[in-house]
Amino acid sequence: MDRKVRVRFAPSPTGPLHIGGVRTALYNYIFAHQNDGDMILRIEDTDSRRFVPGAEEYIADSLHWLGIKFDEGVREGGEYGPYKQSERREIYKEYVQKLLDADKAYIAFDTPEELEEARQRISNFQYDASTRGSMRNSLTMPKEEVDRLIAEGKQYVVRFKIEPNRDVKVNDLIRGEVVINSNILDDKVLYKSADELPTYHLANIVDDHLMKVSHVIRGEEWLPSAPLHVLLYEAFGWTDTMPQFVHLPLLLKPVGNGKLSKRDGDKLGFPVFPLEWHDPKSGEISSGYREKGYLPEAVVNFLALLGWNPGDDSEVMSMDELIKKFSFEHCSKSGAKFDFKKGIWFNHEYIGKTDDAVLAQLFMPVLAEHGITDVDPEYVAKAVGMVKGRADLIPDLWTQGDFFFRAPDTYAEKDIKKRWSAETPAIMEELIGVLEGIDDMTSANAEKIVLDWIAEKGYHLGNVMNAFRLAVVGACRGPHMFDIAELIPKEEVIARIRRAIKEIKPVQK
Ligand code: GLU
Repeated sequence: MDRKVRVRFAPSPTGPLHIGGVRTALYNYIFAHQNDGDMILRIEDTDSRRFVPGAEEYIADSLHWLGIKFDEGVREGGEYGPYKQSERREIYKEYVQKLLDADKAYIAFDTPEELEEARQRISNFQYDASTRGSMRNSLTMPKEEVDRLIAEGKQYVVRFKIEPNRDVKVNDLIRGEVVINSNILDDKVLYKSADELPTYHLANIVDDHLMKVSHVIRGEEWLPSAPLHVLLYEAFGWTDTMPQFVHLPLLLKPVGNGKLSKRDGDKLGFPVFPLEWHDPKSGEISSGYREKGYLPEAVVNFLALLGWNPGDDSEVMSMDELIKKFSFEHCSKSGAKFDFKKGIWFNHEYIGKTDDAVLAQLFMPVLAEHGITDVDPEYVAKAVGMVKGRADLIPDLWTQGDFFFRAPDTYAEKDIKKRWSAETPAIMEELIGVLEGIDDMTSANAEKIVLDWIAEKGYHLGNVMNAFRLAVVGACRGPHMFDIAELIPKEEVIARIRRAIKEIKPVQK
């Protein structure tokens, strides 16, 4: 059947979006764009007890940062709204009623105590075809009593009446056909009168149906719910338009076994959230990829390859390339190890590819943290351009290029030992004279003049150049010395050499 591709990302605002959720959103986005489809952001907030303030905004901001855009959603609007489930109560009530009318669901009054009692009485108790006959529900009670209890305001739930001993088939694009016997399913609660809200299962499938979702692409943790969803589609008579299921492989711990958790990130020092998250209750701050200095393109590229491969050895791929190459056939069934070091590698690659002016803007807040605010963006861009090849994360631009923005206040001991002898101060004095005589400090020009002077005097090239570097940078590190001396104003270069002559005491050998 030819259907317009419509996918949705349907997070519950119960906390910050985990990196696994980001990957789910990304695969949805890629698939939608590959098929000229629509991408929906739906907020599944029917569980009011788990609602966390700020989580919804956090989710939208995170995906925006990563360039995962939506065609329809709470912020975007769209013709199938509202896109927040708590604003769709009336719709769900109508569909719950449809199931009740068709005898596919029933009303149950059992209190928590009565359920506990049943668990004591019946071993391995499950609310299903074998036990529902002994519970307090509309199947065992006269209609008048049910109506009376409801009229009296008694709380109840609506349960799905699952037919026993049926093989339920879930067709999954990655896993193939998954068959589950309905005996293992319980009569799931679909609606609670207490808050007049449906549960996840009902709201989720009613919305997928009404929003004309063609593919449900979500994490593997939702696979156990899929048979129930298939049965709900059937109960409503929507089997023909049931979405195609795709359950994505889990993200696994970088070391050891099991699911990736926040604790792994804390232990090994990598974020598991896209943006920094400030927990409104505990006040705890969890690190985010953005604040750590990752580029969104690098995070996208890294995540895309966790569970999918392009079938060749391409690694660095833009969103457009991912959209061209992606396919579920190349997604794995087994979990993907979260190799965070690979994430750092990707970031290094993307920093190297990113325009200097763009990097300079991202670097500005880091400079500000170090008290450097009044600085020419063009100067920053040139400095960044010289050191970006050595940076993994944005803050590394500072560790690699701090000397462009401040004079050294210490000098590396081991370099002094190696490069600063009793004769050095006099040679440095001479170098100041040479530099003062140069009008055009362009790297190649200054280099020629200085090297000619060194040769003419018969000085040791390495010693002179490294002493020069030590004076300007504070250590024997950094890019080509004459490139540095071209960018830093000449007076400043000279001032630094003067200061070094005063400050550095040659180490006795
Ligand atoms: N609300 C569910 C979640 O938080 C949605 C699962 C689904 O995509 O069906 O992930």
